[in-house]
Amino acid sequence: MNDILPDVSATWQLVESIVCDVIESYGYREIRLPVLEHTEVFARAIGDATDIVEKEMYTFRDRNDESLTMRPEATAGMVRAGITNGLFHNQRQKLWTLGPMFRYEKPQKGRYRQFHQFDVEAMGYAGPDIDAELIIMCARMWERLGLSRLSLEINTLGSPQTREKYREELVSYFSGVKSQLDEDSIRRLGKNPLRILDSKNPEMQELVAAAPVMTDYLDAESAAHFDGLKSILDAAGVAFEVNPRLVRGLDYYNLTVFEWITDALGSQGAVCAGGRYDGLVEKLGGRSTPAIGWAMGAERLVALYEACGGEAGNSAPDVYVVAAGDGAFAAGMKLAEQLRDVIAGLKVELNLGGGSFKSQLKRADKSGAAYAVILGEDEIARNEAGLKPLRTGEDQTSVALDELANALAERLKG
Ligand code: ATP
Ligand code: MG
Repeated sequence: MNDILPDVSATWQLVESIVCDVIESYGYREIRLPVLEHTEVFARAIGDATDIVEKEMYTFRDRNDESLTMRPEATAGMVRAGITNGLFHNQRQKLWTLGPMFRYEKPQKGRYRQFHQFDVEAMGYAGPDIDAELIIMCARMWERLGLSRLSLEINTLGSPQTREKYREELVSYFSGVKSQLDEDSIRRLGKNPLRILDSKNPEMQELVAAAPVMTDYLDAESAAHFDGLKSILDAAGVAFEVNPRLVRGLDYYNLTVFEWITDALGSQGAVCAGGRYDGLVEKLGGRSTPAIGWAMGAERLVALYEACGGEAGNSAPDVYVVAAGDGAFAAGMKLAEQLRDVIAGLKVELNLGGGSFKSQLKRADKSGAAYAVILGEDEIARNEAGLKPLRTGEDQTSVALDELANALAERLKG
């Protein structure tokens, strides 16, 4: 679990504001969810034979002996919240959330035990138009963030019936090569053979590559849904590749699944992943509701943003107010408040704890501020302030107090 320090969080804020902007520009509304849910919510939704439920959840008993889990992902909680609050009754919902997720994983670059996800979900939409829109939204984000080196893989898992037929084919195939399977795969063979396709063990890759593919078992309706998605993506100019091995790590998906992958971050290349989960609302106790969503890893997104040369966020103040001498602090405080009033969003740091001009200017410089505004007894007597550029080597000038906000706004714009 990481501390995200101020220099880094400034870049996070920048990236977050762009991502949230794009999400809301498609009509999604924010929902804020608890970090804790009853363990049952995740166990039922995500599925017993998944990495998450088998070995990654932080689960504990509370003082009332109830089993609670720190959310490993957002979809299950989002669906639970929608059912609890009646959000899906004769309504369609487009929702998003952002926050920390917890998984007991082997920590490494791009893989942490507390990480953050942007999560976007649409309930009540049968698609494939919304499937495409959710993907196109990502492409717009990459563009706004200046990201390259991302590619899109899509697949369809078909209907539950297709999946059942395919499942039988897989069981028969993998049973035939059982002696070559690793321990995880043997366990999954009985419980959920599709998950063997998601194996990360390099020794399993050859067997996985030779396994039957879902697309050969697709029913007509699922095939039409998939074709619909592909033609909307084509029309929007969003390039994709069909990867028939893409099954995703969670059990609740059907029809469309997709992943945005980068080759710029080493082995943890999945930046954003999602899919359709038409059965989940009913499975968690609600009325049958079609739904689809995606989750994006914020750590990986920020890392990719940096790898693509994205501008760093700036946590420094714009202005540092230096005030020394009799009555200067009170005047400085008044001026700082005025500047905050007049220029929206201006970051003003007022010197606190006194000190000589020299020591205050040292602090001003260290703060990273672009300008120092200097108030001494002389300036106050003349109704002026000194305006000193701290980053450019330009000379200090004197500005009338009632001109100062304008002068600053003008200079900071450039
Ligand atoms: P992976 O195959 O990398 O384990 P996953 O299939 O478990 O990913 P999802 O549950 O689909 O991942 O989560 C969506 C996104 O969240 C991932 O694409 C990734 O960007 C991010 N993510 C998942 N787990 C972690 C983690 N432990 N640390 C950082 N980011 C993560
Ligand atoms: Mg995982």
